[in-house]
Amino acid sequence: MKKYFIPLLLLAISSTAFAQKNASNYKYSINLNDVVDDKLQVTLLTPKLKTGDAVFHLPKMVPGTYAIYDFGRYVSAFKAFDKKGNQLKVNQTDLNSWKISDAGNLSKITYMVDDSWDSPEIKGPEIFQPAGTDIEKDKVFVINNFGFFGYFDGEKSIPFEVTVTKPAAFFGSTSLQANHLNSTTDRYNVPDYYSLADAPIMYNKPDTTVLHIGGAEILISLYSPNQKATSADIAKGLKNMLEAQKEYLGGTLPVNKYAFIISLTDNTHIRSYGALEHSYSSFYFLPESFNPAQLAETVKNTASHEFFHIVTPLSIHSEEIGAFDYDHPKMSEHLWMYEGLTEYAAHHMQLKYGLIDFNSYLKTQAEKLNEAMRFNDTLAFTRMSKGVLDTFANQYNNVYAKGALIGLCLDIKLRQLSNGKYGTQNLMKDLSKTYGKTKSFKDDELFATITKLTYPEIGDFLNSYVAGTKKLPYKEIFASIGVDYEPFINVKKANLGKMGLGYNSQTNRLVVADTTGMNSYGKKMGYQKGDELVSINGQNIPEVSKVRQFLDSVRTNLKEGNVLTVVVSRKDSNGKSAEVKLSQPVEVQEDKQYNILKEYPVLTDEQKKLRAAWLNTKT
Ligand SMILES: [Zn+2]
Repeated sequence: MKKYFIPLLLLAISSTAFAQKNASNYKYSINLNDVVDDKLQVTLLTPKLKTGDAVFHLPKMVPGTYAIYDFGRYVSAFKAFDKKGNQLKVNQTDLNSWKISDAGNLSKITYMVDDSWDSPEIKGPEIFQPAGTDIEKDKVFVINNFGFFGYFDGEKSIPFEVTVTKPAAFFGSTSLQANHLNSTTDRYNVPDYYSLADAPIMYNKPDTTVLHIGGAEILISLYSPNQKATSADIAKGLKNMLEAQKEYLGGTLPVNKYAFIISLTDNTHIRSYGALEHSYSSFYFLPESFNPAQLAETVKNTASHEFFHIVTPLSIHSEEIGAFDYDHPKMSEHLWMYEGLTEYAAHHMQLKYGLIDFNSYLKTQAEKLNEAMRFNDTLAFTRMSKGVLDTFANQYNNVYAKGALIGLCLDIKLRQLSNGKYGTQNLMKDLSKTYGKTKSFKDDELFATITKLTYPEIGDFLNSYVAGTKKLPYKEIFASIGVDYEPFINVKKANLGKMGLGYNSQTNRLVVADTTGMNSYGKKMGYQKGDELVSINGQNIPEVSKVRQFLDSVRTNLKEGNVLTVVVSRKDSNGKSAEVKLSQPVEVQEDKQYNILKEYPVLTDEQKKLRAAWLNTKT
């Protein structure tokens, strides 16, 4: 373990070089000691602008989020000044834009920024926390730069300088190179807005661990509000995963430096957690209430996904992503690749290098098949992708389910056609040679390029199942690697009562939200609207992401002759809660279990060979 220090001398030289070459640049500053009403003031010494009007923006959307967030909502008290300190006329033209008159004389802009994690009073969509901002005086500052700093119309490709004044005990974790001017001042210099937006910074009292893997220096930085976890523990879990990533990517990691920036929260009202990818870092927002094993597992699964984004969309992407338009974002058709293939690789890599066994891999794939059932399977994936910001926003999460299954089917198809020699790993390598971080493809040429690199049958596959509406050939694909796929089987499961359930994230309990559709068993049990389920047959209700699985296992394991006992917390007419025990003999009913994946007891030589090629093992 080692603390993260940046070689000062080297950085000072490179940042001076920047400053000399570019007299006209953005000079931003913030002071983390001056928090007013949960807000920070941003000061910008502006670059030299042409005379006339100038429009200043904060982004409407940022890469990797696939949703409109309107970061301008969090800005207030926007003021523009000339050299003498006179205020210039400013007109806010939409949520994210400010028009400044007489811009030829503009010298300085100031505004206040509120944080997205903790501003329920600001109207509009909730910002996924890894893409948001947090201002907690003396504790932590989450600086996703696009949430604090803006740009002028047409002026994104000139240098940006950001100076941060901070408490001496605070450290800024980021993939950016910091110039530590003194113990309370850091400065960052980047060549353009894209680089600034691509690198979050977290300031807090440091808990950092550095790993050296595959020629890369990997920073793991943690903020745990009640010190329930340590970066060293998380690093232990990440080490094997990163070693496997390195093998999967051909023996070296494609970056010299990478930062995993992790902020845990003790807020029990949160609705989601997760991470957002960047070129040289990823930012994680996770519940502190997770036990260490759960936390390590979640970080590992999330991090293996985020890290693979280095391949796509970061190195293989269309023009819509490559020249990202923060003001008028346009979507690409190829989320099946950016998110789907990434999610596929995150699990394939773990299986291939022995981090998980074959059965748990199948279990994950079955969960993905179940998850995909919640979405429209007759909507072409390319069409969904193109319309994901509006028309098909509610279909987005299918990228992690069906998107990943497209990846699996494509990989197996490629292995079949190449006699085991070529798979999606090879394809991604070839595509990043054809394109790359600075060379985008045109949306409608991608399938032709892939076909040229591979086989005509792959072109047919993509056009039928990704651009077309044909159902993916799960039965055939799984059979070819010796796995039986059944869309459903008939099973007997205990009846719970069929009441409508919700989840109260403040109490971590299920709530009877609706009794109108309750069946006769539910009536016998005597559930009432508003009852909070405390336990079922002695087992407490798990956290929200595990609830569906929990209820399903309760229903599968209870047999005729058992008794179902549900303890509920019920409010009386005075609003006082008391626990009530509801019990009835178990009633089982015919039900369906969906998406069963099972290994064949005996594999043919062909199945053995293909599976071995897919997993890179010997037959
Ligand atoms: Zn992703």
